[in-house]
Amino acid sequence: MFRPVRGMKDLYGPDMAKYSYVIKNASKVAKVYGYSMISTPIVEYTEVFQRSIGDDTDVVSKEMYTFMDKGGELITLRPEGTAGIMRAIATGSLAQRMPVKLMYYGEMFRYDRPQKGRYRQFHQLGAEHVGEKSPYTDVMTILLTSDILSSLKIQDCKIMINSLGDDETRKEYVDAVVQYLSQHEGRLSADSKARLRKNPLRILDSKDATDIEICFAAPRLKSCFTSEAGRYFDKVCELLERSNQRYEIDNFLVRGLDYYSHTVFEIKSPHERDSIGGGGRYDKLLKTLGGPDVSGIGFAFGVERLMQLVKDDSLPPRTKKAAVIPVSEKENDAAMAICVQLHNYGIVTEFFHIGTMGKKMQTADKMGCDLALIIGENECAGDYITVKYMYDDINKKKEQTIDKNKMVEFLKYNL
Ligand code: AMP
Repeated sequence: MFRPVRGMKDLYGPDMAKYSYVIKNASKVAKVYGYSMISTPIVEYTEVFQRSIGDDTDVVSKEMYTFMDKGGELITLRPEGTAGIMRAIATGSLAQRMPVKLMYYGEMFRYDRPQKGRYRQFHQLGAEHVGEKSPYTDVMTILLTSDILSSLKIQDCKIMINSLGDDETRKEYVDAVVQYLSQHEGRLSADSKARLRKNPLRILDSKDATDIEICFAAPRLKSCFTSEAGRYFDKVCELLERSNQRYEIDNFLVRGLDYYSHTVFEIKSPHERDSIGGGGRYDKLLKTLGGPDVSGIGFAFGVERLMQLVKDDSLPPRTKKAAVIPVSEKENDAAMAICVQLHNYGIVTEFFHIGTMGKKMQTADKMGCDLALIIGENECAGDYITVKYMYDDINKKKEQTIDKNKMVEFLKYNL
């Protein structure tokens, strides 16, 4: 027997209902903030990710699904959404329409060790606001993430924020961190030792207990802020407070990817070990991919992690539906015509015409139909239709006849 590829899974039934609920609500909120939807290809040339995310990051160095296509081109299944969107802006007409606010959702691929809440194929939904650099834009973006959570009735999440400052801040800080951590190199985890020369800031969000202990006394980014970077971050915090948005500053939040500068943030839930979403500002990303030299800010939520936090009773009620059931083969044509008529009125209707009457009723019941329209000889000839109630306990097995001309009205009212 075949199985899905390790770390990948099929999505259907109640999980699909939850997935659609998450996407629908998040898109609605993003629309209120002025975002429009973008969909980019699932594959990009590998260089798009190498150049934007950075060669030394975990995502690029370990986790990408990269392969040669039949034309000999090196392509990669997207591990995240931002790089592809920046490539789309740089290569299409969007660059002439700055600022742009784009929302997306879809499959992402990372060759990571599968475990609870961590898949090799998963979904993200996110947004990018490109062409405006200001603390107001940053805060508006953070408020959007918070409103998405509220729209899904997800509570108790914490928004952690930090600033990576500007180029100058970062250079100075990297030197300070390397100098400090070099003194403790012998005790660092193997992963962190390897990162010390390549991507030292990542050591600051290591999950290893000794790394955490060492990092506790590491220099703080704040100490390297240029005055402009400091002012920018102070204004972000002030605006969050003015908006009554709760947040916490996490001095060690650096995010995994190379492209961030200034504001970065992550959303954590007490019910999930890893973050449920994260984002930040990027100053050089678009230019790196051949676009204009403008800054942007964006975020992505992991859809599976949001789904985990959505309560079943937050979902909209199940759509009720009707079954059209001919009594015998002779009534099949007439019954199908009724079913088609109901579809045209947008009434959710299924047609059951195979097997005995008992079997047809049983299948309709199994498929979750609420009402059955029984089409027999008399119904075909006369002006009425027999309706059987299926689900409602009080009305179970109740039967009634209705006027054929009032059928649509009756179903609209009773379903
Ligand atoms: P990142 O940009 O790596 O922080 O990813 C943003 C969000 O995507 C995370 O906060 C997770 O919710 C989700 N995510 C990242 N990697 C995975 C994965 N392998 N499986 C499921 N969700 C993931």
